[in-house]
Amino acid sequence: MHWMSSCLVILTLCFVGVTAAHAESKRNLTVVMMLRDPFLMLKEFDYQYNASFVNNDFEGYGIDLMKELEKVIGHNLEIKVVDGYGVYDENTGQWNGMVGELIEEKADMAIADLTMTESRDKVIDFSLPFMEVGIQMLLKKPIETQENPFSFLDPFPSDVWISLIASYFGMALLYFIPKLINMKKSQQKETAWFGLHLLKITGIIFSIFIICIYSANLAPFLTYRWTRRSIESVDDLANQNKIKFGWVKSGSTEAFFRNSDSYPFDLLWEKMSEDPTMLSSSVRKGVDRVRIDDGDYAFFMESIMAEYVVERVCELEVVGGLLNQNSYGIGLPLNSEHRKPINKALLQLECNGILAKLKQKWWVVKNGGGSCAVMASEGGMAQLGLYNIGGIFWMLLICLICVVIVLASEWVWQFCTQNVLVNVA
Ligand code: ASP
Repeated sequence: MHWMSSCLVILTLCFVGVTAAHAESKRNLTVVMMLRDPFLMLKEFDYQYNASFVNNDFEGYGIDLMKELEKVIGHNLEIKVVDGYGVYDENTGQWNGMVGELIEEKADMAIADLTMTESRDKVIDFSLPFMEVGIQMLLKKPIETQENPFSFLDPFPSDVWISLIASYFGMALLYFIPKLINMKKSQQKETAWFGLHLLKITGIIFSIFIICIYSANLAPFLTYRWTRRSIESVDDLANQNKIKFGWVKSGSTEAFFRNSDSYPFDLLWEKMSEDPTMLSSSVRKGVDRVRIDDGDYAFFMESIMAEYVVERVCELEVVGGLLNQNSYGIGLPLNSEHRKPINKALLQLECNGILAKLKQKWWVVKNGGGSCAVMASEGGMAQLGLYNIGGIFWMLLICLICVVIVLASEWVWQFCTQNVLVNVA
């Protein structure tokens, strides 16, 4: 009897232990995120975030990625929204934002556009990267130049036109001077000069070449609307004072400029330090400022986010190349037991194309993605209107007027000379 009760106690203890271990293994994990398009967005746009929101109230790349990770790592993940990526405050000696939450172990992971930087890597762990990024400059597209009825003159610069006019004027002189001399010598019989025929042939060959070169260049000048940017690179931005610039406060972009000692990034940091109001508290605010300030504000942001913006806000564009190369990774507390399963899950998602699919879904398809590509294909080439080539008709009219004047004067000349000859005879 005694051994039976002992067995019962052992079995009960085993059952309790297994259940507890199972509960521990299925423990809900807290994921810190930031409300940033398209990583984490509220499904309904018009209400403000409050702490009682649950996972289902959100959508975005981060949510989809989280659901995929949940399947592989076997934990339920609960969202906690924080504000700020994470920057070290020298006065308090503390990290804030998502990095701060991970250091204090208030969260188990951070799924966001969190850049893997050297300083963060000292205080938290990162998973394998899931996106490659770099800093880029976002600007408002320049206003398209006005259509011009004389745009058919654009293929050649003014010095070429002047040379052409001078050449034809020279040829005309060569052609008419001998004729005039000839006319004076003999009013009745005209000598057939071989040189004049040679001149005509030269003129025709010259004209054929010029027309070929001109028409090969004409189409792009007439069908594209040309725009001129005042800023073409980061150097241009650093060497002027009219256009202001900024980036997100307390992020890795700010850290890049602060820590850089190479030109022109150090100069940009110096200029920004004189006017910190140039910085924005979020990417969205920075992008809005680029739009509103109408070409007078440039915003430095990460390429992947810039790609999302220019896919939707067609009046904005990315200018220049990447200033650096970096990656987004999932943030974890130091020595987190979840790092290995998360890395495994990310590798799986990468290999079976899920990460690429998610990127396509949230960057290109959802929330108005692709709208600028449609506009570009509709509006890139412009049909030639009368307004574009109206100048040719004006020139024709002027030439016809000249021809009438020349003909009239020739007729008057002939009339007078004939009268003189008749009188002499
Ligand atoms: N992704 C950046 C970060 O992790 C934010 C930024 O500076 O654009 O801090």
